[in-house]
Amino acid sequence: MYVGIDDTDSEKRMCTTYLAALLCEKLGTVELPRLIRLNPNIPYKTRGNGAVCLIVEGDRALIKKTVLDMVGEYAQFEEKKTNPGVVFIEKLNPADKKKLRDFYRRAVSELVSIENAEKCASSVGAEFHKFKNGRGIIGALAAIGAELPDKTYEIIAYRSHRKKEKKIDVDSIYRMDKETYPETFNNIDNNTGRILIFPHGYDPVFCGIRGNSKSVVEKAWAMVKPLEEIERTQIFVTNQGTDAHLRKKKIAELKPYDCAILNGTVAKEPRTIAGGHILFGLRDLTGEITCAAYKPTGPFRNTVKKLLLGDRIEVFGGISKHPNTFNLEKIRILKLAKVYLKDSPTCCGRRMTSAGKGKGYKCRKCGKRAREIRLKEVLRDLVKGFYEVPPGARRHLSMPLIRMKPKAGRSTGKE
Ligand code: ATP
Repeated sequence: MYVGIDDTDSEKRMCTTYLAALLCEKLGTVELPRLIRLNPNIPYKTRGNGAVCLIVEGDRALIKKTVLDMVGEYAQFEEKKTNPGVVFIEKLNPADKKKLRDFYRRAVSELVSIENAEKCASSVGAEFHKFKNGRGIIGALAAIGAELPDKTYEIIAYRSHRKKEKKIDVDSIYRMDKETYPETFNNIDNNTGRILIFPHGYDPVFCGIRGNSKSVVEKAWAMVKPLEEIERTQIFVTNQGTDAHLRKKKIAELKPYDCAILNGTVAKEPRTIAGGHILFGLRDLTGEITCAAYKPTGPFRNTVKKLLLGDRIEVFGGISKHPNTFNLEKIRILKLAKVYLKDSPTCCGRRMTSAGKGKGYKCRKCGKRAREIRLKEVLRDLVKGFYEVPPGARRHLSMPLIRMKPKAGRSTGKE
């Protein structure tokens, strides 16, 4: 039976993955549980917009009772934003699988409604349980429907004490990263040295290590030395780091909260606004949009600042709070505009100077004149390729460049 669960946590307490880990122990699972990240731009999320799916076998009534009892016991009902949802599906035929896959594709990339989730759930014969406004059924259903043509793994360690600070031998994390990167990723922000495997707050997660295989995340965890009691660990299969949320779109097709890949030309040069954010205009045949590299994207902004009018680029990201602003996760420079500067000719061993407006050049020594205006191509301080935000500013779903397989015509440029 497929069990989808979402929206049980609050900003400070609980984590739906912890509930999944407890249920895995209680019910046993046929496969590794899935941790599915959904649209990172939606306003309802508490943190990373994650939902879980378990595949379990056994007495159906007992499974359902156990899951619902545990959600009742652990979900943070008093929190305004917490609206749990649970979905049970006993069997899926190929047509139902396709419907659910399509629903997942929308939920990971666009804004969907609770009514839409209910309709889809009913059409595949799912049993769903809504708590409070029940928004969680969106994530619960999408987690069951998730297709994972590309997948990654995360080992999550849960701690016995729920204090804010984490006790760990910090050097062991750097050693682990050195030994396992790039098969594990997003451990450390190399620009700042900040360790990224810890979530903030009091929730039960001690740390999470992400990687390309189950064995590498197990190996990485074995290298880390926690200095406090760890209650349990659980490995999840995930869509993290796979770009599952990105769809090629035209600017005119973008709706609020959409995730997308746009292809266009720089139409307004980058400018820095208060707070250190960089904005520039991108145009395609259907319209124009403002692209933003916010301050937390750190050195990525230095690349964005160097874009010039006419540069052809692909931008990866989405629309969040501001409807006409596209938040950048990465960019790919396809073609750099050629830039020229006037280049004065030389005479008598030095540069000729302007002879007046529209009158060409004049040699100050011998008086010789030159009419033609010569242009010199300026070398651009940018190369074609991909550029990404640093790991500390990265979305859970964003594929790090280090995971991108080089294909023909696809260079990862410099990071
Ligand atoms: P986590 O802490 O588990 O990483 P989160 O706490 O950030 O995730 P949730 O608590 O799961 O986020 O809250 C997100 C809510 O938004 C859930 O109710 C989920 O069903 C809903 N949701 C997910 N994707 C969409 C979407 N595309 N459109 C609308 N609602 C969505």
